[in-house]
Amino acid sequence: MRCILVGPPGCGKGTLSGSLIKELGLAHISTGDIFRAHRASQSEFGKRIAMYLDKGSLVPDELVLDIVFDRLEQPDCEKGFILDGFPRTLAQAEALQSYFEKTGKALDVVANFNITDDVLVQRIITRRICSKCNAVYNVSYHAPKQENICDECGGELIHRRDDHEDVVRERLKVYHASTEPLIDYYRKKNLLLDLNADQGSEQVKADFFSYIRGKNF
Ligand code: ADP
Ligand code: ZN
Repeated sequence: MRCILVGPPGCGKGTLSGSLIKELGLAHISTGDIFRAHRASQSEFGKRIAMYLDKGSLVPDELVLDIVFDRLEQPDCEKGFILDGFPRTLAQAEALQSYFEKTGKALDVVANFNITDDVLVQRIITRRICSKCNAVYNVSYHAPKQENICDECGGELIHRRDDHEDVVRERLKVYHASTEPLIDYYRKKNLLLDLNADQGSEQVKADFFSYIRGKNF
């Protein structure tokens, strides 16, 4: 199965991705994770993109596209993949479309996470991420067993710099302006699955799985 997860920051894309990786063995391509790894490594590329990450603005398309298309050529993507956080602009969606046409691949589903802004802001500022495996926790409703330690791998949990309220508000603005237009783009292609993400991650997962069970991806 080849799928895209579209939704504002904190909507639960990462949590659903975790289930899809475990249960379906899909490769997970999160451009946010890739960029944060580059920044942490202090590479030249990492230094170029750090400013965008810290402000909550988009990394320019010319720095995004090659990274994603190279990643899609890795062998683990053959059995299917989740694109999490890409595409984020219509230009990226169109570039992805051309890549698929060139390589003879096609998308199966685009999951659209619908959620209200206030729920999001609240969720994000209490969110913590594993610095080693990127597992997602929340100090108010999904705390790790041991404070600040990942249940899965023992890594240290961090509060992402861009998960502070002012940057979150900026990321939401960017989402509404640049990414929301993708919803109509994929709806017209008949690929959209609408999810109600106000309901919480267990229900979102159940809705997603019941949808794909009916299909032969
Ligand atoms: P979110 O929790 O907002 O979905 P991500 O981890 O997906 O956050 O992304 C973090 C940051 O990485 C974004 O605010 C943006 O600066 C950059 N980024 C990630 N994916 C893309 C993309 N496809 N195009 C441009 N910038 C991106
Ligand atoms: Zn971990």
